[in-house]
Amino acid sequence: MSAERSVAVVLDGKVVAAKVRAEAASRADAFAAQYGRRPGLAVVQVGDDPASTVYVRNKRRSCIEIGIESFAHDLLATTGENELLALIEILNNDPHVDGILVQMPLPKGLDSNRIIDAIDPDKDVDGLHPRNAGLLMVGRPGLRACTPMGCMRLIHEAGCDPAGKHALVVGRSILVGKPMALLLLEANATVTIAHSRTADLAATVASADIVVAAVGRAHMIKGAWLKPGAVVIDVGTNKGKDGKLTGDVEFEAALYVAGAITPVPGGVGPMTIAYLLSNTVAAALARARQL
Ligand code: NAP
Repeated sequence: MSAERSVAVVLDGKVVAAKVRAEAASRADAFAAQYGRRPGLAVVQVGDDPASTVYVRNKRRSCIEIGIESFAHDLLATTGENELLALIEILNNDPHVDGILVQMPLPKGLDSNRIIDAIDPDKDVDGLHPRNAGLLMVGRPGLRACTPMGCMRLIHEAGCDPAGKHALVVGRSILVGKPMALLLLEANATVTIAHSRTADLAATVASADIVVAAVGRAHMIKGAWLKPGAVVIDVGTNKGKDGKLTGDVEFEAALYVAGAITPVPGGVGPMTIAYLLSNTVAAALARARQL
């Protein structure tokens, strides 16, 4: 007789993202009823990088779907920094614009830090402005980075309360790793951050109840490293030679060890856009209350 192996719950990001979108849509409707206009998101694209064009198109389409007004600004790849800063200044002062998103990466020659710093922090729906990153650090309300917010929601939807758990974040970027670690800490997890200089990643993974992988290296986290029953959130998006997307976690092997796991694609990706919409409505409400 062979013992049956248990299989992890696969966390469907599309289903959870649909819930987040529905919540944002109903808050957008309530905002429109109260303030006589729709929340507005300006999405700025500089150049025509094909991947960015797809992301930007999805963001603009998603806005319209849930009742957010979308303001499109497509600039040539040759746009100078001062010209882009001037546009951001206009958007900062436009009362119909509640959120400003500048699609990254920017073409060479444009300093992304300077651009992010120029965005009004109250309209920084990506949560990347140093003021919002700092507010997260000191545990005060502010706009939070969309991908880590999406990961937290997936952890919650897995029925996992991070309090008292050992959470491991692999990766320490400003976009994902660092805010993710702070959100887990805020939820009372005991947090470890691993990075390229971590000595024994396998041993660190083995002791984690929650693993968030945000590296950008296909299948680098082995299923056999995982603690049985761990909740695994795979942020990585890696395009193979065949054009297929894979995550940072060895999904097939992890399925038989983890308690819950996100697929790639269809896990974290849809959550990022959903929280961009959610942040835009939150920014609109916060700004309207201030005026
Ligand atoms: P990033 O800025 O390149 O950061 C990668 C991190 O991984 C760095 O902190 C790096 O450490 C660490 N790292 C590199 N090699 C490592 C190793 N061998 N062991 C442990 N850590 C290692 O990337 P990111 O912007 O955070 O994105 C990470 C991945 O998530 C990418 O695949 C990206 O495409 C994906 N992503 C997906 C979404 C989504 O919505 N699905 C959103 C954002 C990002 P050092 O700091 O020491 O160099």
